[in-house]
Amino acid sequence: MKKTTTNPASKLICDFFGHKYEVSKKVTSHVKEYTCKCCKKQLTTNSNGNLTELTPKYKEINTILEEIYTRRMMRLKSKTLSSSIY
Ligand SMILES: [Zn+2]
Repeated sequence: MKKTTTNPASKLICDFFGHKYEVSKKVTSHVKEYTCKCCKKQLTTNSNGNLTELTPKYKEINTILEEIYTRRMMRLKSKTLSSSIY
């Protein structure tokens, strides 16, 4: 019997003890993406502020959200920079 590198027990551990989620990506100040350290399951914050499975649809939404957010932050930053000159 050959041993595989993937650990099928990790999913069992998650089922039993719960997932060990850590923030894998900060989309906005409210929306984050989480990945389970154990089984690599991904979650994200939805529009209601609840955690939901990170589907391709949510990935798409998050990409757009991140774009809007970073653009807004950059605009805010340049505004405070230019106003601090005066
Ligand atoms: Zn897990």
